[in-house]
Amino acid sequence: MNIHEYQAKQLLKQYGVAVPAGEPATTPEQAKAIAEKIFGSGHKLAVVKSQIHAGGRGKGTFKSGFQGGVKLAKSVDDVVTLAKAMLGQVLVTKQTGPDGRLVSTILVASAETIKKEFYLAILLDRENSRPVIMASTEGGVDIEEVAEKSPEKILKEWIDPAVGIQPFQARKIAAGLGLKGDLFNACAKLVMGVYKTWWECDASMVEINPLCIVEAADGKESMCAVDAKIGLDDNALYRHKDIQEMRDLNEEAPLEIEASKFALNYIKLDGSIACLVNGAGLAMATMDIIQHFGSNPANFLDVGGGASKEQVTAAFKIILQDPNVKGIFVNIFGGIMDCNIIATGIVAAVKETGLKLPLVVRLEGNNVVAGKKTLAESGLTIISGDSMADAAKKVVAAVK
Ligand code: GDP
Ligand code: MG
Repeated sequence: MNIHEYQAKQLLKQYGVAVPAGEPATTPEQAKAIAEKIFGSGHKLAVVKSQIHAGGRGKGTFKSGFQGGVKLAKSVDDVVTLAKAMLGQVLVTKQTGPDGRLVSTILVASAETIKKEFYLAILLDRENSRPVIMASTEGGVDIEEVAEKSPEKILKEWIDPAVGIQPFQARKIAAGLGLKGDLFNACAKLVMGVYKTWWECDASMVEINPLCIVEAADGKESMCAVDAKIGLDDNALYRHKDIQEMRDLNEEAPLEIEASKFALNYIKLDGSIACLVNGAGLAMATMDIIQHFGSNPANFLDVGGGASKEQVTAAFKIILQDPNVKGIFVNIFGGIMDCNIIATGIVAAVKETGLKLPLVVRLEGNNVVAGKKTLAESGLTIISGDSMADAAKKVVAAVK
């Protein structure tokens, strides 16, 4: 699950990470009240930031023609004008794709005078089975570009999860970023806080881009997380009631939400062959074999080990709602799963939806004879596959 920048900053703040003072608003009136507080407390500048689950907002463009999803404001009136220009509008950035995202919330925060922008992130390094801290002096910009053109500018520090982060590791990052004195100490403290956030929230990623040296009105410099992005491990969400409440369904693919209602593991992909499979391993192997025979999967779908007829029917309807789908591949190896339940579900779904696309079914395992009989007696046009490879070849051919 992903959360908004303002929510990520709330979590970071709880773990002692310095973030600019700010609050979310869904109406221009709310934005005005927050702006009055910011300017009333002596700040000379505020920032208005579109809250969507995608980066590149600063350089984004609204469909209305308005430029920039992150803008500075010099007065309360400026904030209100910007709030009106952003709320209810669709913002297109490098990461949203051409459809863009509807902005229903903005973050109004005090704007800091930025002296320098860094990059800081904590991710899971799957090759080393350890969390890794990545930092770079090249902040604010596209980190993928830095990684490609000048990988030596990205510092990496691996953490032993059994011992946790050691203070010297945080200091190593601060030194690597070229910081001295108070800023060095502030950065080391901030890195410890960001790691603690990652660990305690069961995050899969925490990214601060930019992490900034900011200057206050009195000229005093400090370290501050100006942008923040957090991705969380769905499997650990049950441990975090407060974070579950941060879920924003408007930011999630409608078909994935529908699938989650039926406890189906569905992820939409870009190909043309829809897959309905039991078990995550078999689902991945199914996607591989489709690619192997020259086509691309339209989705990942694991109906699980003990799916009911209703779940299978729902799954079938969900994969069919994707307009890119040109054919369907049902690949079932019934261990716990009863093949006849799958077959009954398929027949019900095909009848309900009036399916016209080629459907290839490979059934194997528990109660397979009854399952095949159900399919054969249904009177539906179903291409059956003898093996996984045979079925994959058939569905690729049918789609071509
Ligand atoms: P992103 O474009 O979606 O990554 O959004 P960011 O929050 O990173 O904002 C984009 C850019 O706007 C940053 O790199 C900063 O240069 C600028 N920016 C954001 N917040 C502030 C702020 O409080 N003060 C100033 N001066 N600039 C800001
Ligand atoms: Mg950013």
